[in-house]
Amino acid sequence: MDNEIILLNTDIDFINISTLFNIEPIGDGTAYIESLTSYLIRLANAHCVSVGTLINNIIGPTLDKSYVVRSAVNGGNRFYDGAKSLNGIDKNSKDLVSTLETLTSRNDLEKLTFYSWRYVLTNRNLLKDHLEWCPECLESFKEVYGCYYFPLLWSVKSVNYCNIHEKRLVSNCPGCKKTIPILHRRSDNENCPFCGVKLKLASQDEENTISQFELFFVENVNKLIEFTKNLDYKLNREIMSIRFKFIEQSYETAYNNSLRKELKIPKSTYHYWISGKAVPTIDNLLKFCYLLGITIEGFFFNEHVQFSKRDIKIGFKSENTSERRKLNYEKISKELNSFMNIEHPFSMEEIAQRIKVPKRTLYRKFPDLCKRLSKRYMEEIKNRSLARRVHVESLIEKSVTELIEINLFPTQKRIEEHLSTNSLLREGYAKKYLIKCLKSI
Ligand SMILES: [Zn+2]
Ligand SMILES: [Zn+2]
Repeated sequence: MDNEIILLNTDIDFINISTLFNIEPIGDGTAYIESLTSYLIRLANAHCVSVGTLINNIIGPTLDKSYVVRSAVNGGNRFYDGAKSLNGIDKNSKDLVSTLETLTSRNDLEKLTFYSWRYVLTNRNLLKDHLEWCPECLESFKEVYGCYYFPLLWSVKSVNYCNIHEKRLVSNCPGCKKTIPILHRRSDNENCPFCGVKLKLASQDEENTISQFELFFVENVNKLIEFTKNLDYKLNREIMSIRFKFIEQSYETAYNNSLRKELKIPKSTYHYWISGKAVPTIDNLLKFCYLLGITIEGFFFNEHVQFSKRDIKIGFKSENTSERRKLNYEKISKELNSFMNIEHPFSMEEIAQRIKVPKRTLYRKFPDLCKRLSKRYMEEIKNRSLARRVHVESLIEKSVTELIEINLFPTQKRIEEHLSTNSLLREGYAKKYLIKCLKSI
């Protein structure tokens, strides 16, 4: 009998039982491979729990990083605030990959991040800190894969355009208009975590103003992601410097002209790149490729580089940044002004996030307007806290009277019980007000 039981047990392959479902990443091997945070969200979905629950109970303890565990216990936000880098090139990205691989018994999750490119990319300007999406793509993902997901491609900061549907990506919820964090305790890839409205319902304008460079950018990030699967050897730190030197030499042999001067790259910046002291941002790297008429793949891997001198001229013309900036600033100014008229003012942080311009830039370009907006917000905050204070004080006064009427001494605990609250008297002014009331009895 015992032997039979032992035989039955050996039929079950325990090694293949993972803690979490071993779900397949979507879009493997394509430019539309999903991001690690999207995968994490789908994992939570597959287990019918929220992202918050999955992180607090399973991922946090396995990840064993003190800040995650602390955050889980205290309801803190550190893990979520830093979530954008989870799809990137940092150590925390690698940590989450390893943890999820342990929990799902998979070994292929690094591809859902840019970690394999860590020696040749920099964090500067690499990733967005909020979600952007193409509603039409979301819809088609649902049709093709039976679920919604976010490709890694959309997490890149300068990818703001869908080259399949030729429309701009959307960055605000169609319901509450908020920007949506990369990861939220209630994220689910389909709906807004704040108001529950479906993200695919957002409307998109047809895009006619896409520049040649923007198009090139998206197409080449596509290629870079697609190429990750072929990185059979690890890229190393030296490769950037080696490639820059190689391309410079090839260019100068072909055209007998200084590449740096021709491309108008600032001297010190170029020196850093070519000496390997710093790697360019993905924007600068792709601009470099664009102006030379080479692809990102060509930059890294081609042994013979074919330049396109005609493209260089076109590139210089279409790189009319001062004109583009002027147009944008007009639009930004209008948007900023519109915030002066809303009923409940936003902070400058919130405004900067909504119109996707750094706060510092806004203050530099529109100092007076920004100061007015900030002042308006501060006044609102002050009024709100004043109104709350008056409200709290009236509640305390009322409770004191009512407790005395039923012959109970109005202690802090009794007042809080009386009002069914446990935090009302936490504030210093509330305590002071209670003492004042008691003295006057
Ligand atoms: Zn699309
Ligand atoms: Zn919403």
